Amino acid sequence: MSASLKRWNYSKGLHDLGNGCLGWLQPDGGWGLSNAGLITDAGEALLVDTLIDLPSTAEMLRVMQAALPAARINTVVNTHWHPDHTAGNALLPQAKVLSSNETLREMRRMAGGQDPMGDILRDWRNRGEAGAYLHEVLGNRFELNVPPPRLPDAAFDNDLGVHVGDRLVQLIKLGPAHTRGDVVVYLPRERVLYTGDVLFHEVHPAIGAEPVSNWIAACERLLLWPIEVIVPGHGPICDLSAVRQQRDYLVYLRDEARIRFDSGMSFAAAAADIRMDDFRGWADEERIYMALASLYREFGAPPVEFESVLQLAYRHRKRGRSQP
Ligand SMILES: [Zn+2]
Repeated sequence: MSASLKRWNYSKGLHDLGNGCLGWLQPDGGWGLSNAGLITDAGEALLVDTLIDLPSTAEMLRVMQAALPAARINTVVNTHWHPDHTAGNALLPQAKVLSSNETLREMRRMAGGQDPMGDILRDWRNRGEAGAYLHEVLGNRFELNVPPPRLPDAAFDNDLGVHVGDRLVQLIKLGPAHTRGDVVVYLPRERVLYTGDVLFHEVHPAIGAEPVSNWIAACERLLLWPIEVIVPGHGPICDLSAVRQQRDYLVYLRDEARIRFDSGMSFAAAAADIRMDDFRGWADEERIYMALASLYREFGAPPVEFESVLQLAYRHRKRGRSQP
């Protein structure tokens, strides 16, 4: 399936894509291990996303500074509100942080205390398997007990063009897709795209902003652009064939879920029943439980309690990928 994909080296750290475009990668792209991007020209730089905590963001900024001592980051783009793309904003006080209006609203909501995952993480010892799960994949691996992230300084509705030196960088709102306010960062001349979490590559996508048809439409839109290199939100550097793969994944999962919903199967039974052989080896397979809960909501099923979805996902994760 991925035979046409050019294989870029997938190692932790800074990768030069050429033309002043760089990517920061964090294998294996699973929980909290997001990518970021850097676009530079004539002493200016734009950072695409910060990371999940201050130490990992500080490490990234140190390496970028050492590799490009003349480049000063004056702009940060938050592709969406999730902490693994925003929590390091505070380390760039000199830069202007930009996001879509929806992303700013979501970050305000979270800063105001509406944070179900954070609530479970802070109280994980008393939250059973849901708590154990989030502690294992996030709390235990990152320094999450910090004040809410610095909010964006300015937000926009649809698209925004930004100049970095002489380079034109387009911030294009593609959400709702992975979240309501997803923005991708596109360099039309260089044919480079930073997708944020509109694209997960070789990582099971985190589906949660219904309906999933929006995300499928966002993939279709990207497939029309003359893109040569993509830094996804999670996973290795890739090209448009990865967008096609993810589009096919979303269509497959939605259609298989619908068949089982129509036959009266529960979302949990459906998650266990759908064959995922074509996506073997992708990180975080247990996310199909969150995906099925979201798809069933979209089909009109009564919502399932968040913690019981996490509990089922955790059991799947512990069983390992190879077992039914
Ligand atoms: Zn995300």
